[in-house]
Amino acid sequence: MKRSELVKRYRIAENKGFRLTDVKPADTWKLKSKDHAQEWLEKGVARLSELQEKLYAQNQWAVLLIFQAMDAAGKDGTIKHVMSGINPQGCEVASFKVPSEEELNHDFLWRTTKRLPERGRIGIFNRSYYEETLVLRVHPELLATEKLPASLITKDIWRERFEDINTFERHLTRNGVLVRKFFLHISKQEQRERFLSRLELPEKNWKFSLADVRERQKWGAYMRAYEEVIRNTATECSPWYVVPADHKWFSRMVVAEVVVDALESLDLSYPKVSPAKRRELAAARTALRINKL
Ligand code: ATP
Ligand code: MG
Repeated sequence: MKRSELVKRYRIAENKGFRLTDVKPADTWKLKSKDHAQEWLEKGVARLSELQEKLYAQNQWAVLLIFQAMDAAGKDGTIKHVMSGINPQGCEVASFKVPSEEELNHDFLWRTTKRLPERGRIGIFNRSYYEETLVLRVHPELLATEKLPASLITKDIWRERFEDINTFERHLTRNGVLVRKFFLHISKQEQRERFLSRLELPEKNWKFSLADVRERQKWGAYMRAYEEVIRNTATECSPWYVVPADHKWFSRMVVAEVVVDALESLDLSYPKVSPAKRRELAAARTALRINKL
């Protein structure tokens, strides 16, 4: 079993005919059990840790990982597990919720742009500007709260947003920010089970919100919106990964493998030490040895 095969299986780039129903939320590829995936995940996390050290030391590339999903699909847990081996100094997670008054006073890319990762870092978006083409599409009445001039709200608005997002991500790519996007694909039945367990277990109660149940009633509209997003914004430079998420052990492993694959594509290395610097290091070593410093 090869990483490249797994990564390719869920990768969507330039596919206007993509259908969400082609990816089964309960799929686990060739893996039969959690134990098997656990081994992969551990190896993936260790590899990620090495690659991140180099990314940080080289200080040229940045990596942006975008997570989108229905509620209870496991965004938080995936982020926590996959990033568990990473040096916190080199990583920042930003969560985007209902926009604040200040955020609504700006264009829709403003708040996320402020949280883009610096060179050498991994930035994680827990939700993102894609909400502007998802929740807004399912609830178009929210557009009225965005304070846009009325003449700009036309039937073309979604196409225009896709276009702007594509241009923005191409700009990031051309500036050394590697973009990878994940849709954690959970089934409606599995979401129901997870909501029920949030209601039953006191330590999970805080995660439950009635609003989530309301959004669940719009499941079909959300799936159509996700499909449209993926069809229109999956590109070679910034692909989507549609990750089966009914089994948390599987989705975590897939995300780890995709991130390792992405970092490996960068051909990272530690900065080379120049001859002058090497002479300086040798002099410092000698001085320290004879206790002169
Ligand atoms: P949790 O697992 O804690 O529920 P969450 O990511 O679902 O995590 P919430 O506090 O529920 O966090 O807030 C997310 C909500 O904000 C979602 O319903 C999402 O659709 C909404 N949201 C995010 N961005 C926007 C936006 N730009 N406009 C309107 N609503 C948005
Ligand atoms: Mg929520």
